[in-house]
Amino acid sequence: NKSASGKKVVEKESREGLEFAKGGHFSAWYQQLVVKSELIEFYDISGCYIFRPWSYAIWERIREFFDAEIKLLGVDNAYFPLFVSARRLESEREHVEGFAAEVAWVTRSGSSELEEPIAVRPTSETIIYPAMAKWIRSHRDLPLKLNQWSNVVRWEFKHPTPFIRSREFLWQEGHTAHVSREDADEEVLVILELYRRIYEELLAVPVIKGVKSDKERFAGGLYTTTIEAFVPANGRAIQAATSHSLGQNFAKMFDIWYEAGDGRSRAMPWQNSWGCTTRTIGVAVMVHGDDKGLVLPPRVAPVQVVVVPIVLRGKNEAVHPMCLMIADRLRRYGMRVKYDDRTERTPGWKFNHWELRGVPLRLEVGPRDIAAEQVLVTRRDTGEKTALPLQADMVDAVHDPLADAVHALLERVQADMLARATAERNAHIGRAADWEAFMRLLEAGHMILTPWCNAGECEEQVKQRSGECATAIAQEEAAGGGGLTGAAKTLCLPFAAEMQRLQLCAVDEYEAPADGKRCFACERPARRWALWGRSY
Ligand code: AMP
Repeated sequence: NKSASGKKVVEKESREGLEFAKGGHFSAWYQQLVVKSELIEFYDISGCYIFRPWSYAIWERIREFFDAEIKLLGVDNAYFPLFVSARRLESEREHVEGFAAEVAWVTRSGSSELEEPIAVRPTSETIIYPAMAKWIRSHRDLPLKLNQWSNVVRWEFKHPTPFIRSREFLWQEGHTAHVSREDADEEVLVILELYRRIYEELLAVPVIKGVKSDKERFAGGLYTTTIEAFVPANGRAIQAATSHSLGQNFAKMFDIWYEAGDGRSRAMPWQNSWGCTTRTIGVAVMVHGDDKGLVLPPRVAPVQVVVVPIVLRGKNEAVHPMCLMIADRLRRYGMRVKYDDRTERTPGWKFNHWELRGVPLRLEVGPRDIAAEQVLVTRRDTGEKTALPLQADMVDAVHDPLADAVHALLERVQADMLARATAERNAHIGRAADWEAFMRLLEAGHMILTPWCNAGECEEQVKQRSGECATAIAQEEAAGGGGLTGAAKTLCLPFAAEMQRLQLCAVDEYEAPADGKRCFACERPARRWALWGRSY
């Protein structure tokens, strides 16, 4: 059961544990982890996965947060159909060209061919905007801000990976129309900031904000802003979520006009679209997971605290009621708690079971703890154990010191996870001024900041040249059928504030990267700073 590159790490009598090390055979580790931890069940259509309650609950947390935030911005939820006619899908040329290869078509109903094939939405601009054209009549109808929570289908030719790149995925897609360009531009960034908060505040995953290069921009849009996450274990970046300015491009194609304030002239709105998907879950799993299993950030963990009774023969009368009481108190405080009172399983088995599933804190309660008026709490992220005082009169207490302490510990875990992930990510960013330095950093599994000419053909060449000198690990990934290549691409052109936050270069340097600098790849004068890396 040992693969050539994978190490067999956790041997358990129950065969519940992982057989691959994160640092050994990363993709085997990941594939096994998402199944064994009960996030995913595989399905007989490649690229489609069953989201089990353990992963769906994480998605629900993300959804609750984001949904509440966008409602504060005046966004309304709606729902649009799953199917789109060919005529509509093809109304915006660049848009359809960008998506054509991945569109799934329905061509038959029962045994008869459809007169006209219909597409399954890969995204809903072409479904929503004809309706918007009817609803937007006057400047008073603007801004119009809609969002839908839905699934989309993109028949990806790249090898699918659960959560990260699937053929059907869940997401929200926001679609808004504004009178002024300034208003639209501002919203693009407000949404991007909410996406940053999903990753950094909920998932404890650090991200870098920036704008996509022309080549990587959303098909048919004006510009795309992005947050980029990074998986240190395999040196791959990943586009974590995107917020697009569509300009007036789609308005033109879908004939969206409104009467301007003066009552005579007509104007076209400025539009945005923005989306964040169930990829979020996969990124958090990849960043935080370890050889024992998932490590879930407390804010999204379906269960934050598991209470495990340590029952010794003949001495357990006090344990069960104490566990019930503790679980109840923690729940009343607002924490998500599981009391694992199964009698057919040993405490050791339960420890492994919940570690594999990533529950942030484990509380052990045994007769000895009760006698000593304490409970033992173990952190999933560090393995650190602490004894917390257990007040005997807790039942009647208005104020609950144990719940306070457990809650504070959850917050600590959340903060520490982000801090650790950030330090590790930062240790994987380098700067290069020339090709040689660039390749050295790439081969060390880093993201690389470079002065860049900002030309599409240069970007294409970097992709080719860097692919040719792929490292052993990248070649292995490619050969393993993972569909990943060793080639680097632009992740984003980071915002000035991000470069400062990451201390990647001085402000004056950022403002004028062209000053005396040459493109690291083609040696023409540099125009922008670009962040490069291997990517999912
Ligand atoms: P887009 O509207 O094309 O910018 O997509 C929005 C976001 O969806 C991207 O920023 C990615 O993070 C995510 N995404 C794209 N393709 C997939 C996929 N196949 N599976 C899961 N998430 C995806």
